[in-house]
Amino acid sequence: MQNFVTSKKLFEKAKKVIPGGVNSPVRAFNAVGGTPRFLNRAEGAYLYDVDGNRYVDTICSWGPAIVGHANKKIINAVKEAASKGLTFGTPTPGEIELAELIINQFQSIEMLRLTSSGTEATMSAIRLARGVSGRKKIVKFEGCYHGHVDSLLVKAGSGLLTLGNPTSAGIPEEFVEETIVLNYNDIGDVEDCFEKFGDQIAAVIIEPFAGNMNLVKPLSGFLEAVRRECDKYKALLIFDEVMTGFRVGRNGAQGILGVTPDITTLGKVIGGGMPMGAFGGKEEYMSHIAPTGPVYQAGTLSGNPIAVAAGLETLKIVLEKDFFSKLSTITTEFVQGLKLAAINNNYSAFSVDSVGGMFGIYFSENIPSSFEEVSKCNQNIFKKFFHLMLENNVYLAPSSFEAGFLSIAHEGPAVSEAIKAADIAFRSLQQNH
Ligand SMILES: *Cc1c(COP(=O)(O)O)cnc(C)c1O
Repeated sequence: MQNFVTSKKLFEKAKKVIPGGVNSPVRAFNAVGGTPRFLNRAEGAYLYDVDGNRYVDTICSWGPAIVGHANKKIINAVKEAASKGLTFGTPTPGEIELAELIINQFQSIEMLRLTSSGTEATMSAIRLARGVSGRKKIVKFEGCYHGHVDSLLVKAGSGLLTLGNPTSAGIPEEFVEETIVLNYNDIGDVEDCFEKFGDQIAAVIIEPFAGNMNLVKPLSGFLEAVRRECDKYKALLIFDEVMTGFRVGRNGAQGILGVTPDITTLGKVIGGGMPMGAFGGKEEYMSHIAPTGPVYQAGTLSGNPIAVAAGLETLKIVLEKDFFSKLSTITTEFVQGLKLAAINNNYSAFSVDSVGGMFGIYFSENIPSSFEEVSKCNQNIFKKFFHLMLENNVYLAPSSFEAGFLSIAHEGPAVSEAIKAADIAFRSLQQNH
């Protein structure tokens, strides 16, 4: 039996001074129960907790750790940058280099601004879209997460195209009044919405591969329909690629899917493990941002030199030839291994999906294509599976509504270790049925 007494003690202590003991809710294990492990180190594909346990990491810090933890090149870049001062509050040369690197990979981005988080990027992108269009309404999709922006923490009302409801206390209904929530992958919903509100819609914001309701891919024709409606009614299309940017491929989800947004938001990987976000698009739109335009947006630590150094070094590695084909192969091997482990143990209500270094596992016969379908996956079995995997030293995302992430450092034994653990887990699930 795994010993995690120190984590337990720390969790009790943390809960006294930090709400729920954590600084971001999903870390608290509320969806699966039990004690989150307190880590003190991570290297390559592995996490190490304070009790000396080692885990195969399948979260990768929710995306950023795409080259593996404590990569020497990145650590050295950060050390070197830190030795020159942590923040200046002035422009620095590295910011230009990072902007150019990103712009070179995204045809839809001519200019961008750096922020300190994905939330700031989406919040600013929404403000920009409203500022450019002079319109108020924003369209989002159920199950897509765009950071904890007030107007985007909203779920659908009781009927289609009714007012949305805030999903958090502390958000007045008036703040979400101009947000319309539609079903992901539902072209009819999008067409109806534009027919009714088209000339009031400033922007549609969407995760081109949804990764915050587990992994849900767009069905063929869906994003094309969204693009078409936006064009028809002159609304801006925002791709929230905070998760997918430099995670699914070198040109983002838009490069794979062939649909081009007006504004793109980025985060996670582009900071290489340091706090970072970005939003960008055509100069025509971005020139509306202060100081060149009337849309205000700012940040004391935006473009922070340490974060920029970590981001630059990470992107250089990620943009090496064959990086994404390797990462995809590793991820496919992993999910197919899990699927086979399920089959070998006669476990049929299990499906898997992946794109680039991002994956989904679902306790359902078929891969879900909407929030409703994800909600129907067996969450009880997931909980059991999660804990069986954890006991066998594989750290899965502690919720069936989260996607998983691997890194290039998972090449080698990490994947086979995880598959072996899954085989034990499925056998145990089957025996205790
Ligand atoms: C993580 C995420 C965000 C929020 O980014 P933070 O850096 O956590 O503020 C926004 N959108 C998507 C799609 C994300 O995955």
